[in-house]
Order: sequence, then C-alpha cells, then structure tokens
Amino acid sequence: MVGGLWPNARVTDSQTTTPSRQELERWDREHVWHAFTQMAEYEPLLIERAHGCTLVDVDGRAYLDGVSSLWCNIHGHCHPRIDAAIREQLALVAHTTSLGASNPTTVRLARRLVELAPASLNHVFFSGDGSSSVEVALKMAFQYYRQRKDPRPDKTKYLALADAYHGDTLGSVSVGGVERFHAMFEPLLFDVVRVPAPLVYRGPAGVPPDRLADHYLALVERVLEQHHDEIAALVMEPLVQAAAGMLVHPRGYLRGLRELTRRYDVLLIADEVAVGCGRTGRMFACEHEDVAPDFLCLGKGLTGGYLPLAATLATTEVWRAFLGTYAENRQFFHGHTYGGNPLAAAAALASLAVFDEEHVLANMRPKIDRLAEHLARIADYPHVGDVRQCGLIAGIELVQDPATKEPYPWHQQRGAQVCRVARDEGVLLRPLGNVIVIMPPLAITLAELDRILAAVEHGIAEATRDA
Ligand SMILES: *Cc1c(COP(=O)(O)O)cnc(C)c1O
Repeated sequence: MVGGLWPNARVTDSQTTTPSRQELERWDREHVWHAFTQMAEYEPLLIERAHGCTLVDVDGRAYLDGVSSLWCNIHGHCHPRIDAAIREQLALVAHTTSLGASNPTTVRLARRLVELAPASLNHVFFSGDGSSSVEVALKMAFQYYRQRKDPRPDKTKYLALADAYHGDTLGSVSVGGVERFHAMFEPLLFDVVRVPAPLVYRGPAGVPPDRLADHYLALVERVLEQHHDEIAALVMEPLVQAAAGMLVHPRGYLRGLRELTRRYDVLLIADEVAVGCGRTGRMFACEHEDVAPDFLCLGKGLTGGYLPLAATLATTEVWRAFLGTYAENRQFFHGHTYGGNPLAAAAALASLAVFDEEHVLANMRPKIDRLAEHLARIADYPHVGDVRQCGLIAGIELVQDPATKEPYPWHQQRGAQVCRVARDEGVLLRPLGNVIVIMPPLAITLAELDRILAAVEHGIAEATRDA
C-alpha cells in the first residue's frame, strides 16, 4: 500500500532504525497528543527509566518524582516485589475477560479489597481508569433505584460539589465542576444539583473555622430537603478535592454528609481515586471520619502506580437489587474490555502486600510531619496565600495579594514557573494553576522530601520575585 489515503504506510523508520533523541522528540511533538497539554508549546520530556522515587530521562538526567507520576505511584518505581508479581502473572496469562468469566488473580484482588474496605462494601466492579470507576458508580446508583424492592424511578439526578473533579468522560465531567476544564463541554452534560465546596482559605467571612463544616452541611441539608426525591446519589472526593487545588475539607464534613445522605435516602459515592490507597496516611480517606460510603471508587494508586486499573466497590444492599434471572434483565449494563486485567490485578495485589510487609502507613508518620514543617516555613513567603496538607498530599497556593487573596492572573503561569525552577534542580512537579502540588510516592525518604521542598522554596522565591 503506497500513497493515496495511506501515505504513511511507506514510512517504516519507527520499526527499522533506532531513532535518535532528536527524532524521538520530533515524533513526540508531532504524533503523541498529550493530555491537558498545549501541544503548540509542548517541550518534550522523555523519561526512559526510573528507580525508587527517581525518574531518569533519555539524557541520563535524574529527577525526583514529586507528584508520583501524576498522583499514582506509591512504593517507588521498579519495586522488586511488584515487578516480580507482574512477571509471574505474565508467565501465566496477560489478559482474560471478566465478562462472564474470571481469573484467580483478579478474584484474589477483589477479596483483598473487600477485606480492607468498610464492612458492607462486599462487591467489586473493575474498570481501567478512575473516570470509569465513577461512571460505574453513577450508573449503578441510577439502576439501583429503578430495581430495588421499593423502586424510586424519579431518582435520576446527582448531587455534587462545586469545583469537583471526577474524571474526563462525559458522565464524570457532568458531575465535575472545575470551570476551566469543563465549561467547554457544557452543552453535552446532564444537569447536576450543585452545592458549594466547603472552602476554608476562601471560606465565608464571619464563620469561625470550627463552625465551617456545620455551615456547609446546612447548605447541603437545605438542598436535600428540596431535591432528595429526585437525587440518586451524592458524589464527592473525601477529605481533599485534589484537582480543584488540593482543597482540604474541614473536619467533620465527610461524616456530616454521610449522616445527611442516610437521612434523605441518597447514596454516597466516595471518589477516592486520588486520596485512596494510603495517600492520606490511612488506606482509605473515609477511615479518618469512620465513614462507610455506598460506593468506593479507587484508581490511580491501586496498582502502586504501575498499570491502569480501577475499582468500584458497592454495598450488598446495592448488589442485591441487580440479582435475578437473565430473563429479568436486571444485570448491570456496563463493562470494560480490560476491566480486572490479571497483570494489573497482580500489581495491585503486590502493592497491597507491600503496605503490610514494609509497614508503609506507619512509616509515613515522620514524613507527614516533615512535610508539615516545610510547609509551615514556606507559608511565611509573602506571596504564599495558603498551605494545605492531608497526609502526603500538599498544595501551596500563590496569590498576587495575600491581604485580599487576589489570585495571580491565570496566563502568568506562576505555578508553572515554580515547577520550571524545581525541574532545573532535579525535581519534577506539575502545578494546578497557582497551586504547587506536592504529592510524592509514599516511599519517599526524609532526605528526598527535603530536596523536593528546597526546590519548591527556590522556585517560589524566583517566581514571585517581580510581583
Ligand atoms: C484522577 C481522578 C479521576 C480520574 O481518574 P483517571 O484515571 O484519570 O480517569 C477521578 N476522580 C478523582 C478524584 C481523580 O483525582
């Protein structure tokens, strides 16, 4: 096949030669369409290998992985235990379907997740990414109310928080509320009942910090009073709204939401795609407030940051509403080709084993404290408006004017400037607008943490100098 519709069919250099660094960079710019990236301004960064919390590019330059390869790496890269588990699985089979069939490794992972999760979350639906895990929960909640013993077919809506982020598929974008990402697709989205995010730094004037949770819960209650008849589920990110800029919720808010959703017969979907799998210092964020949601969505860190895998855990109450004969047509109408993929499941099982074998959660304590010390120091910089932390998740918000909390104009890219300085010092970060994100692998050492925060501090000093 030559020319015509398929002009590239003659170009076989990708297969026959070892491309130079320059060629790789050109192909990267031309052919790889990167997520959330302005390709006209994209500067290639080609990470070739990694060890522990260090990434190494094609030129041999090393960088500390300050955001866990986008919030998913847990035990570091090339962890021998996880590598071995994947190899063992690979010798058996890489993929078999979970549509009407199963695989021992996938079954064992489901069992392990059920053991770790709150008591009633006994049923695990696997998918391939966090967005899908949320879509699954949304659709299950909807179908549940149509099929349960006393059906509530009018419950067709969702309640979600302002500035929420639940992924990039259309359902998860509908419940999302990050204006900058989501406004474009507005005409395609379904209606969602929205409540304000429980803001602390930019919270309401005159409400003391210890009353904030109650203040925001009262707003939710007002909405539930009015709309509970049409709301199937409340979907939210427990403790930290990550993509919104690491907004840490006031203590007691999650617990309050659980009580309200119970009272108004609304299901609670806990999207722990970012905060789950140890990131907050407990295996699941919901544990901090002793909350058992109706759905628990896991992704990102589930495989230790190795392979794409997500899970939606559901309660037995929900699961029962889907049981019947095939003739009754009550099964869940949803599935992903690679859901429950055995290689990914093997990585996830090994990652969960490493939590036990290396006492990962207990070992996080001094790291969380060290991060807090650094943040307390950085908080004193003139253009640092707020520092926020939950476990090994941190956000540093830069502002133009700390007195008025006036943000820097978006186009000035102050956050990106900070990260550019840090990168020159061998620390890889990715900001959220004016918020510097620090979310290292849980395996980070104290010395590595010190290096990351030193680079962040230099970056902030440089990027806010002229202001
Ligand atoms: C990243 C994220 C998602 C989406 O996960 P993908 O794997 O990128 O689809 C969903 N919810 C939250 C809270 C996230 O942080």
